[in-house]
Amino acid sequence: MNSTAEAELFDAIIIGGSAAGLSAAQSLGRALRRTLVLDTGEPRNRFADQMHNILGQDGASPAQLVEAGRGEAQRYGVEHLTAGVHRVSESTRADSVDRTGRRELVVTLDSGVQLFTRSVIAASGLTDELPPIPGLAQHWGSSVLHCPYCHGWEVRGQRLAVLATSPMQLHQAQLLRQWSDRLTFLSAGAGELAAETLQRLRSRGVVVEPTPVIEVTGDGTGVTGVVLEDSRTLELDAIFTAGSLLPRDHYLRGLGLAREDTMVGSFLKIDAMGQTSHDRIWAAGNVASPMATVPLSMGMGSFAGAAANAALVTEEFDLAEAGRNQ
Ligand SMILES: Cc1cc2nc3c(=O)[nH]c(=O)nc-3n(C[C@H](O)[C@H](O)[C@H](O)COP(=O)(O)OP(=O)(O)OC[C@H]3O[C@@H](n4cnc5c(N)ncnc54)[C@H](O)[C@@H]3O)c2cc1C
Repeated sequence: MNSTAEAELFDAIIIGGSAAGLSAAQSLGRALRRTLVLDTGEPRNRFADQMHNILGQDGASPAQLVEAGRGEAQRYGVEHLTAGVHRVSESTRADSVDRTGRRELVVTLDSGVQLFTRSVIAASGLTDELPPIPGLAQHWGSSVLHCPYCHGWEVRGQRLAVLATSPMQLHQAQLLRQWSDRLTFLSAGAGELAAETLQRLRSRGVVVEPTPVIEVTGDGTGVTGVVLEDSRTLELDAIFTAGSLLPRDHYLRGLGLAREDTMVGSFLKIDAMGQTSHDRIWAAGNVASPMATVPLSMGMGSFAGAAANAALVTEEFDLAEAGRNQ
């Protein structure tokens, strides 16, 4: 970012520089928009060495994707700053109201610096808050996993477990049976299972273990098993589970944007192009769509960038017409 940027007006500020944010940046940069990406460098999948189920990027690391995406966006003039965003608010600058009566936005960094922009794209992802079981978090992304499409192939046929944190993991247990016939459902977090459910799981050879897990064990390279509350141990090669999904959208809270209650919590409400209930703010990727993978986040970012550009184009025609009619 150049040194005068603080006082200038960006066409778009993108909060988050990973799959969704850099895709939005590419759309906006290629549309000749003055665009700034603000990023704290902590993509959700940073715990994994490799990414999968991404066309053209299979096996690449999360860092490689970000580096390539950043380079591509920079080629189109997109600026980049390593900084956290504290707040997005309506501008109260005296000259901030344009001729159509709409206000620009102020992006306040954690450092207190304020930046001004005509549009914002929130692409800051989410945080996985894992269950507080000793040993679990240490293996997150290597042999404690969340998505069979992303990592199931790598552990196919191995001794797998699904560690339930809610009744929703019943679905995950059924799904994982596709990747291995040596599957245990650690069901305590799912509550008591109905007799028909137990019968259905057992009909496909899934072992159901209702005793709570008190520890995940490892050998320094990966998971080796779990210790149950009654001191029994189970030997395992990998565990699938799900944490609480917490959208990283605290900087938008002051604007009172519409939200939606999903099965996994409250997320920003967006339309098909990623627009929030604010006419200058779009959202893309996991911050608004908890189930989005890398390719889906890229698609959402690309759409949101194009939609923000289209809104600016409309505004420029509105301003030109208003000027001619004066
Ligand atoms: C362990 C693990 C492995 C995964 N493996 C795969 C896989 O193999 N294939 C796949 O398709 N998906 C995978 N996923 C899912 C994938 O991580 C997400 O779908 C994807 O990262 C979402 O992209 P995003 O751009 O929305 O958010 P993120 O990639 O999380 O990026 C958000 C960015 O915003 C930044 N940020 C956050 N808050 C602020 C702020 N206030 N100010 C400035 N910057 C901020 C963060 O530092 C981060 O760089 C995996 C997830 C996990 C947890």
